[in-house]
Amino acid sequence: MPRRRRRSRCHPGALPFPVMTADPVTAQQLSPGAEVPATVRASLSPSRAADFKTCPLLYRFRSIDRLPEQPTVEQARGTLVHAVLERLFDLSPAGRTPRAASDLVAPQWERLVAEQPELAALFTDDGEARSAFLRSAAGLLQGYFTVEDPRRLEPAERESLISAVVDEELLIRGYLDRLDVAPDGALRVVDYKTGGAPREAFEARALFQLKFYALVLWRTRGVVPRVLRLLYLKDAEVCDYTPDADELVRFERTVVALWRAIEAATAAQDFRPRPSRLCDWCSHQRLCPSFGGTPPPFPVGPNPADSLRDSRSRPVRPGTDE
Ligand code: SF4
Repeated sequence: MPRRRRRSRCHPGALPFPVMTADPVTAQQLSPGAEVPATVRASLSPSRAADFKTCPLLYRFRSIDRLPEQPTVEQARGTLVHAVLERLFDLSPAGRTPRAASDLVAPQWERLVAEQPELAALFTDDGEARSAFLRSAAGLLQGYFTVEDPRRLEPAERESLISAVVDEELLIRGYLDRLDVAPDGALRVVDYKTGGAPREAFEARALFQLKFYALVLWRTRGVVPRVLRLLYLKDAEVCDYTPDADELVRFERTVVALWRAIEAATAAQDFRPRPSRLCDWCSHQRLCPSFGGTPPPFPVGPNPADSLRDSRSRPVRPGTDE
């Protein structure tokens, strides 16, 4: 039986939570495909915002210097499992079986390699390592079936880009793994986690990401999601979190403050390292002063940080499971 985390570990507030309407004054709606309002000066995704919160220098390396990062096997496995789960729901409900998911693994890997040739460099041996990798992805998918029965689900959205304007000038946006809508209109945001890294090191980041999506949905649909769900496939574990409107108001202030801090750091060209346990997963240690390195010269020209350009085209999804 899958273990279901005690709600109190994720949620300090009262339950159940009533569906509420968003304040239409402080935020503008932005439907998919709509023009970005002229007032918008920047955009921010949960990943980049979390980078800055974790370590300002990491944010700089990724969003301003745009240093390449070779995907790790673990990240590639996360990307593959997400791709299979997305395609699984293209099948008829009765066809969404563990066997069908396993059968999708190899073709989806071939598709990803064709789209992201750097993934092919992960396996250059005689094929045994690649086969073991595909088996490990199939194993994670079996973990999925112990926590959910996809034959009984009909997601409203999968891998969808959602966005909203806050504070008139900031576009917040991100890709949902899955959105479920109940007959009464209640929303459930679902995020698949496949990583093998210590949970506690990344849980705060995962919850930050989900609150980010909850804020966008509230601002665009006028409904506070009833459930933010993390599905940990490796551990076959579910973590549900129930946000409330007051919390999302505070979270919106946090996001705007974070953006202003990013702008100030950019103007001052001052992004400091903040060492933590997460440094073990950082690709840029050799350039980091905390590890004896020296960052490259600060890029000149327009600030490319998380530019609006990114919000208009879907980026190749990096392995988003840390
Ligand atoms: S190694 Fe650590 S402190 Fe340095 S940039 Fe990476 S996350 Fe930041």
